[in-house]
Amino acid sequence: MEIPKFLIERYQFWKENTFKDYKDIYQQASKTRQKPIAMIITCCDSRILENTIFGGSVGDYFIHRNIANIVPSINDKSQNIQTLSAIEYALKVLKIRNLIILGHSNCGGVEYSYKTLDKKNVNDFEYINQWVSCLQKSYKNIPNDFSESEKITFFEQENIKQSIKNLSEYDFVNKLINENKLNVIGLWYQINSGLIKFLDKNNSFIDLD
Ligand SMILES: [Zn+2]
Repeated sequence: MEIPKFLIERYQFWKENTFKDYKDIYQQASKTRQKPIAMIITCCDSRILENTIFGGSVGDYFIHRNIANIVPSINDKSQNIQTLSAIEYALKVLKIRNLIILGHSNCGGVEYSYKTLDKKNVNDFEYINQWVSCLQKSYKNIPNDFSESEKITFFEQENIKQSIKNLSEYDFVNKLINENKLNVIGLWYQINSGLIKFLDKNNSFIDLD
């Protein structure tokens, strides 16, 4: 196994610069248990820099990533264990009270799901094809009269709404929501403009600024 040069160089730069600047914060963080201000469930996509967008410092955000930022339904028994174990830890152990689902534009996972569920360009990906079946409910809500790009944007946002609905299927999550102890936040981030839309009380996406 070889460590790529870019990793070594970037690590050395970080250690000499960023780490030095934040040394006290890192040392303090190691002395206490983590107490994040929010959990963020987002996509594996390399263009989503959630800590940068929301000014994260050491210990601020508890992050879970999966393809297309999905919270699977309680009925998806074979799919939900990883995401739900992260949520369970966040809510029961860390007592986090803000849970953010951060979806995004140009989501390859959502686009692939759309094409797969639409029976276009289906690949024989052993695991991804199984994972995208989680999106079947949101897929069914896509309006027929939209253009293909409008459909995919709608699907990205519908997936966030569905993930939030799926969350309430889990008793331990639903209980916290009903007791006003958990704030669930749906966000959709547009990569090219930096725009963030949030899901308001009427279940519509509204510009954050
Ligand atoms: Zn994505």
